[in-house]
Amino acid sequence: MIPRGLHALLDAASAAGLVSVPALMGWRGELRWGMAAAGAGVAAYSLLTRYDEDGQAPLSMREHLALDGLQGVAFCLAGARERDATARRALLAYGAFSIAAAALTDPGPGRVPVPRQVPLSRDSILRSARGGRTEEIAQDVAWRRLGIVNVVFLGPPGAGDRGWVLVDAGLNGTARMIEAAAAERFGHGARPRAIVLTHGHFDHVGALQQLARRWDAPIYAHTLEHPFLTGQAAYPLGDPTLTGAMAALCGFYPTAPVDVSPRLQALPEDGSLPGLPGWRWIHTPGHAPGHVSLWRERDRTLVAGDAVVTTRQESALAVLRQAPEMHGPPAYFTPDWTAARHSVRRLADLAPEVIVAGHGPPMGGARMRMALHDLARHFDDLAVPHGGRYAPQRGSGLVVTHDDRR
Ligand SMILES: [Zn+2]
Ligand SMILES: [Zn+2]
Repeated sequence: MIPRGLHALLDAASAAGLVSVPALMGWRGELRWGMAAAGAGVAAYSLLTRYDEDGQAPLSMREHLALDGLQGVAFCLAGARERDATARRALLAYGAFSIAAAALTDPGPGRVPVPRQVPLSRDSILRSARGGRTEEIAQDVAWRRLGIVNVVFLGPPGAGDRGWVLVDAGLNGTARMIEAAAAERFGHGARPRAIVLTHGHFDHVGALQQLARRWDAPIYAHTLEHPFLTGQAAYPLGDPTLTGAMAALCGFYPTAPVDVSPRLQALPEDGSLPGLPGWRWIHTPGHAPGHVSLWRERDRTLVAGDAVVTTRQESALAVLRQAPEMHGPPAYFTPDWTAARHSVRRLADLAPEVIVAGHGPPMGGARMRMALHDLARHFDDLAVPHGGRYAPQRGSGLVVTHDDRR
């Protein structure tokens, strides 16, 4: 293990080396500037890092190490494409050094593991998660993965203008992809009857403002979620003390609210969904206070949002591979585990045939159902982190928050 003090020295040496070595070697301008910029970046985030626990700087050591790792990957990718042999070796060597330093440095006490939960084989996946295509997973239910998050289209193919509903709105920057997928499925220029939100986390509302404006569509969300959609309240910060790169980076995920007040409406109180006969919404809080899942009894299809997900969202590797697993809500963003447990029980009691969650591949069949039951039955052991910022105090059911800011 590299002690954190030594790591700080390595950071200073790296920043100096990145700025000076390319100039000394007489590498071409483009490469020199790129590496100098990387050196300035290392210097900047190192100055913002708390190398010891009592410091005041905003970045934790874990976050710092996650940035080191990302930087290492970027250098390796750049090295693989570099034509000059000396520069290529240098880029690859520095990339490998950054990754190794990130992996070997003591991140400080209290990293809380998020273990694998209920494993599922790829046989339970309804359609391959590869290919970046929109695919029908149940009658009039289509699914599309946009990087790390899913969106769902409800309505028959060729439904036409106002003949369909979008569930969730992906990451910032994906509006065009969602629009194109909708046009392909429902017809050119076909606008949705509504956009329904399972909850308002940044990865589910990224393209919301843009899409709602362009489509002039109403947005439906549970009233407990409205403060986060009207600019009134921010979600609690993520918990970066959990294992997994997605968790380590969660301090960088936006928690500030979006403001879509002019178009925002409450979900109908009778449990129905506008424009979606046969569907109803179910309040499944825990991951977010106004989180809802959507349910169609006729063929037992469940749109789960993040109440349960079907890959280990805390792990970048699992997300990259879309490795199937029945998994509780993404742990770094779940502040109320008691409510989350109730919600998963409620969903398991529905005995769904098909499940499409906010993250992970769509799954179906008896094995999936058994996995969901297992997760619900052993939720505290499997899904709830035994520590970290939002872990419930054992036995009390209370949510405790640590007093450190991140
Ligand atoms: Zn979420
Ligand atoms: Zn999510």
